[in-house]
Amino acid sequence: MTQPTYSIVIPIFNEEENIHEMYRRLTGVMQQLDGDCELILVDDGSRDSSLSAIRELQMCDSRVRYISFARNFGHQVAVTAGLNFVRAEGAIVVMDADLQDPPELILGMIEKWHQGYHVVYAQRTSRKKESIVKKFTAYAFYRILRKLADVDIPSDTGDFCLMDKQVVNVLNAMPERNRYIRGLRAWVGYRQTSVKFERDPRFAGKEKYTFGKSFALAINGIVSFSRVPLRVATYLGMLSAVIAVLMMLLIVYWRLSDRATPLVGYTLIAVALFFLGSVQLFCIGILGEYIGRIYEEVKGRPIYTVKEVSGVTSQQTVSMH
Ligand code: UDP
Ligand code: MG
Repeated sequence: MTQPTYSIVIPIFNEEENIHEMYRRLTGVMQQLDGDCELILVDDGSRDSSLSAIRELQMCDSRVRYISFARNFGHQVAVTAGLNFVRAEGAIVVMDADLQDPPELILGMIEKWHQGYHVVYAQRTSRKKESIVKKFTAYAFYRILRKLADVDIPSDTGDFCLMDKQVVNVLNAMPERNRYIRGLRAWVGYRQTSVKFERDPRFAGKEKYTFGKSFALAINGIVSFSRVPLRVATYLGMLSAVIAVLMMLLIVYWRLSDRATPLVGYTLIAVALFFLGSVQLFCIGILGEYIGRIYEEVKGRPIYTVKEVSGVTSQQTVSMH
């Protein structure tokens, strides 16, 4: 088979209700493309009938290829595996399986790519039917990340994007195991631009990102792209030193001026103890986040394990990294 011009990578975790509709809308878009296109479906250890739906698609359509993980490794890892697997020589698109990312937008992205951009990321102007809490936390998080991160990670962008083959080659060559793709994508540089879109509600099924997973992703984004939190300990230390000196001066002043010092008793000691204790634990926690990440990298385990590749039980069960 000749190399296709485009690849579309789609991570899938328990999306049985969405796969057929997604495929239907995508084939509509694929017909309008100016080159061949392959679909890379990455089954992230789904526990429903997603894998058999994927197998069926692959049997009827030779443009479909898939990888199935031996267990659930998470969205970012699924996208990573898809990128490792693409054969396109032109551009690669990453999108979700739940149709929150409208496939029709791909045409606009390709237009920008033809204009010479290497990365075209989709930027949300609004989110439909998502909870206030999710909207607010996402809004706040992207702004905090922008303040803290060393690279300019655009606000309100997810993983829905188009990348030139050159960019994907760079991403594939990055050895790190902890992958925050939207950050890495900004880190590589090249000519980048955005297309705006309104984020649709899910076509069917529940969100696969629980609050816990979203929170972990947020921490991961900050720790992977900023060392500012490590400095928090230094700043807190300086602040409490200043408070301590002021208190000392105050006590000396009270003694010299023969006033009774009000700073006595267990209450004060208990409050100070808890305050300093929590500051210390907080700082150790931050250190732990970074050390944990070093530990993960040093262990050098593969990022994912593959149980099946497009109908063939995988001979090589682990990733290349
Ligand atoms: N997903 C995945 N592994 C996971 C969680 C999610 O591959 O552990 C996929 C999921 O099937 C979907 C995409 O990642 O295609 C985004 O997930 P979701 O819609 O739950 O997230 P959100 O829309 O809130 O970003
Ligand atoms: Mg979604």
